[in-house]
Amino acid sequence: MRIITGLARILIIFLFASLSRECIAADGPQQRSILVLEEADFRSPFYSEIFAGIRAAAKQSGTTQTVIYGESLDLARFPGPDYEESLVGHLKTKYAHRPIDVIVSIGVASAKFLQKRKQDIWPAPPVVYGFVPDLPETRALFLPNTTAIFARVRPAHLLTAARAIVPDLTRVVLVGDAWKNPLVYGHWKQDFAAAMPDLEVTDLSDAVLRDVRKHVASLPARSAILTSAMYSDGEGTYYSPVSALARVAEHANRPIVITSDTFLGRAGVGGFLLLPETIGREAGEVAMRILDGEAPSRIPPFAGDNVKPIFDWRQLKRWNVDEANLPAGSEVRFRQPSFWEQYYWHSTIVASVVLVQALMIAVLLRERRLRFLAEVEARQRMSELAHMNRRATAGEMTASIAHELNQPLAAILINAETAQQVLRNPAPDLGEVTNILDHIRRDDQRAAEVIGRLRSFLRRDPTERHELDLNATVGEVFRFLSVQALTHDVELTTEPSSANIRVKADKIQLQQAILNLVVNAMDAVAHLPDDRRRVVGRTSLSDGNLAIVSIVDTGDGIMAEKVSEIFQPFFTTKAQGMGKGLSIAHTIVAAHGGRIWAENAPSGGAVFHVSLPLAAPR
Ligand code: ADP
Repeated sequence: MRIITGLARILIIFLFASLSRECIAADGPQQRSILVLEEADFRSPFYSEIFAGIRAAAKQSGTTQTVIYGESLDLARFPGPDYEESLVGHLKTKYAHRPIDVIVSIGVASAKFLQKRKQDIWPAPPVVYGFVPDLPETRALFLPNTTAIFARVRPAHLLTAARAIVPDLTRVVLVGDAWKNPLVYGHWKQDFAAAMPDLEVTDLSDAVLRDVRKHVASLPARSAILTSAMYSDGEGTYYSPVSALARVAEHANRPIVITSDTFLGRAGVGGFLLLPETIGREAGEVAMRILDGEAPSRIPPFAGDNVKPIFDWRQLKRWNVDEANLPAGSEVRFRQPSFWEQYYWHSTIVASVVLVQALMIAVLLRERRLRFLAEVEARQRMSELAHMNRRATAGEMTASIAHELNQPLAAILINAETAQQVLRNPAPDLGEVTNILDHIRRDDQRAAEVIGRLRSFLRRDPTERHELDLNATVGEVFRFLSVQALTHDVELTTEPSSANIRVKADKIQLQQAILNLVVNAMDAVAHLPDDRRRVVGRTSLSDGNLAIVSIVDTGDGIMAEKVSEIFQPFFTTKAQGMGKGLSIAHTIVAAHGGRIWAENAPSGGAVFHVSLPLAAPR
């Protein structure tokens, strides 16, 4: 029975042991906790980034859940023992039932607070100090069972940045009340003097913001403003450091060297900047190592990699700072890409399109030029051909011209002989002689006109277009051919339109085209009986804006199947024909923007029409 009781006891103990293990497994691993104590306000960008860095480090490390508590001690804005006392009471009550595994203390003021009050509130947990400078004064604040990651912008850093921005620097102006904190900025005045013995230092760390703004508005050349955070000024007015600096920057006439990443882009050219996110992450990583079981005493305090030379590109441009002068390893932010970098593809496409377009325009212009030259050459050829054509026509007309000249010459001869006879008379009738001389003169003029018409017909003038009276122009051609018509016994008549038709044309060319049509018409009727040897020249208006010349004959007409061919060069049905007359007429009319065509009249005979645009459309 005793044995059974002993066995039952062992079984019960085993059962409880396994049950409690199950329960623990069901709850999961124990929660760990970090308390972040920040000397200032969490809501300021600098401290909120530090907190974000700590949180990021906790998240990164393993699966164990870590709860992070945060407290803003806000000691700069709320100094004094009463507040400190109330703070201690508040924290003691607040954390009475919340075990804290590691404290991350941010800032010198927080380290000081812990040195005095940690024992009261959290006697056990180890401390990781962050955002403290590595100075004997700060190391003296560290409690046992703690470690630290140092962060500090050194005076030499500030001077290096200031000289990169103002190479011939002779004066620095210190703005911001944090300069007064000996535990942060240490022995900066001695450090400045050691680095640059001739440097003039104007200390405005005690001045009220109003005076600071006034002062920085008229600083001499070769000076720079060095800023630390401004929380309050000499009047006890409290600021957010970012907005205080922005207000200083509004008035500053010299570049501002800054000390925190959170100021960049809001004010200041740049400098060796504290990186709050990195400060937080470094402290958070050490806190996690401690939570994972490492003893703080085995992690000696070390300098963090949390200060970097960073500059604002826009401010570098504003102050004409050569990037080559910046400290080695500097990062330049807010660089605005050049137009070319920003719109590389757009520009390339637009440039290509413009180039292609320019090429096309060039090709088109070249073609236009070539066409123009070809047209000029064609016109010249046509003019030469036309001239030859006129000479040939004149040659054919030699007989009739001679005949026409003969008449006035014969008349002159007769008149001259008559005058001689009258003068042989002892009492010559001088009135009659005068009369005879008048006749001689008139006949001479007639002969001169014939010669003149021939000469103008044979002239080789450059193409010149003038406004012409179409009725008169056609009339002149018919008059010119009248002698030849007489010779061949052809009746030439004109039926001019009653309207005053005006066209813009080269008179000689247009007359030649019409003349060719009339000569062809005379050829077409030359072999026919008397009553069919008629050629009529008509002018008319068509559709109100075209001038029409129609040459109508009473010949046999054009062979129907040849109507489309007759305007081709060298097409002829005549034994002595050249086949050039109609093709020259066609070229001339086309060059004047007109049209030429032929048809057979229903009553027999051919009709050739020429249409030309009016000089001034009605
Ligand atoms: P050519 O007079 O030297 O033959 P053209 O070019 O002046 O050259 O005329 C070409 C052809 O057109 C003529 O050979 C003729 O067959 C035809 N032709 C021209 N005018 C007339 C017309 N009025 N009646 C009939 N046929 C014509």
